[in-house]
Amino acid sequence: MADKSFLIDTTKCTACRACQVACKQWNELAAEDPVPTNRGTYENPPDLSATCWVKVQFTENEGDGDTPTWNFVRSSCRHCIDAPCKQAAENADSITIDSDTGAVLFGEGTASESYSKIRLACPFDIPRQGTDGRLYKCTMCVDRVHNDEPPACAKACPSGAITFGDREDILAMADTRLAAVKDDGFPNAATLDQRDVRLVILLADPASMYSLTTRA
Ligand code: SF4
Ligand code: SF4
Repeated sequence: MADKSFLIDTTKCTACRACQVACKQWNELAAEDPVPTNRGTYENPPDLSATCWVKVQFTENEGDGDTPTWNFVRSSCRHCIDAPCKQAAENADSITIDSDTGAVLFGEGTASESYSKIRLACPFDIPRQGTDGRLYKCTMCVDRVHNDEPPACAKACPSGAITFGDREDILAMADTRLAAVKDDGFPNAATLDQRDVRLVILLADPASMYSLTTRA
């Protein structure tokens, strides 16, 4: 099996959050506790957690006149090529790399790692600690991928905003799509950290218009 990657094309995202729900459902993740309260936004929950591994970020920006614009982006672990979280771990078995896909996987051993050290090492602020002490995040649904099924989020996305496949194909697709979006009137369009991560995000607008932690 070839190295895998995602392309998240925000120009196609409608913020339906089917990806969030599909992740919860496939991975049998509990509902958020406490139940999030209404914060005056459709974004929910407010943050990633040990039971929320995929989150769609909503950012309200100034538009033309009185009408604001929304920018949406699906965020989760980027499955970094040289994962800083793994480099920060004390024990090699705590965080492993799936040899088939390249997915970065948190194991039971993360319970004995320093949460603050692992979380601080992540450039995207992804790991979260569960009540059992373990650290949790997106698994790339490797159980599905090993059975030739796409990750649950990619399967659920109704608008084609999430593409999953062989890394070389995804990188080529990202380049092609970026050129098309720029031609379409978005000169600031960019793909983020494309060579360093397995979750490549394509933005139409400047990164400052999305609530997104990016690599420094
Ligand atoms: S995004 Fe963070 S948690 Fe995921 S592989 Fe990279 S460093 Fe690790
Ligand atoms: S399922 Fe697709 S369209 Fe819906 S929020 Fe997720 S990425 Fe966006």
